[in-house]
Amino acid sequence: MLQGKQGLVFGVANRRSIAWGIGQALANAGARLAFTYQDRVGDTVNELVSTLPDAFAFPCDVLDDAQVDEAFERVEREFGGLDILVHSIAFAPREALEGLFVDTSRDAFRTAMDISVYSLIHLARKAAPLMEKRGGGSIVTMTYLGSDRVFPKYNVMGVAKAALESTVRYLASDLGPHNIRVNAISAGPIRTLAARSIHGFPKMEEHVRETAPLRRNTEAAEVGDVATFLVSDLARNVTGTVLFCDSGYHVMGM
Ligand code: NAD
Repeated sequence: MLQGKQGLVFGVANRRSIAWGIGQALANAGARLAFTYQDRVGDTVNELVSTLPDAFAFPCDVLDDAQVDEAFERVEREFGGLDILVHSIAFAPREALEGLFVDTSRDAFRTAMDISVYSLIHLARKAAPLMEKRGGGSIVTMTYLGSDRVFPKYNVMGVAKAALESTVRYLASDLGPHNIRVNAISAGPIRTLAARSIHGFPKMEEHVRETAPLRRNTEAAEVGDVATFLVSDLARNVTGTVLFCDSGYHVMGM
């Protein structure tokens, strides 16, 4: 499905990362991929990426504009252009995910919005000219139902996800005339490094297992398959949407 396409994936920290589930699915579908990572997880990510044919990885912290510039220069050198951008990045300081939302500090708010939301705008702006060289492209980011409903302790990350989903719509409007599509996948709870920092995460998982229509939790590989569809030509008329991959949990009232 993705033969001949070239993609850049942000957000692999380890083998449990949703970005790794997506990367594996895109590579299985024939895409040639570059991955970025935060310095401290470089060894792990390089080891994982070495299992994929023709893939490579390099560091990029989205808080550092120079590193983002270098990342896209490198991709332009290696690939010429870009068809796919995967943004699977989020962060909030631990203390903001423990107590009450009303106690969110200005610093924690800024950090969460900068890393989890602004980075998508920045990366989309850098990716757009490389995608235009290929006649268009597809951008996918990761969100959660906490954008719309209250999940205790998800706190500032819920507000960041609401802003991220709105960002998807504005980017879709700006970039659509260049045949660049922008969509989000709203995944059910998956036990990853980021999820472990959310207090009460095991309770969220248990609740989904008991009440979601499919009576089970989501796997990163399943998110990978949805991402493969979204970045493929099968979804060529789909942009600005949030697509759920959550065992159907979002339709339930109780
Ligand atoms: P993860 O910890 O594996 O991935 C988070 C990634 O963000 C890491 O690779 C980390 O290095 C990266 N990151 C954080 N700060 C960064 C920075 N300054 N620069 C560059 N990268 C940075 O966890 P995950 O669950 O795979 O999270 C990926 C995305 O999926 C996040 O947006 C998360 O909110 C979203 N999501 C997760 C779940 C879940 O239950 N795990 C559900 C829905 C959505």
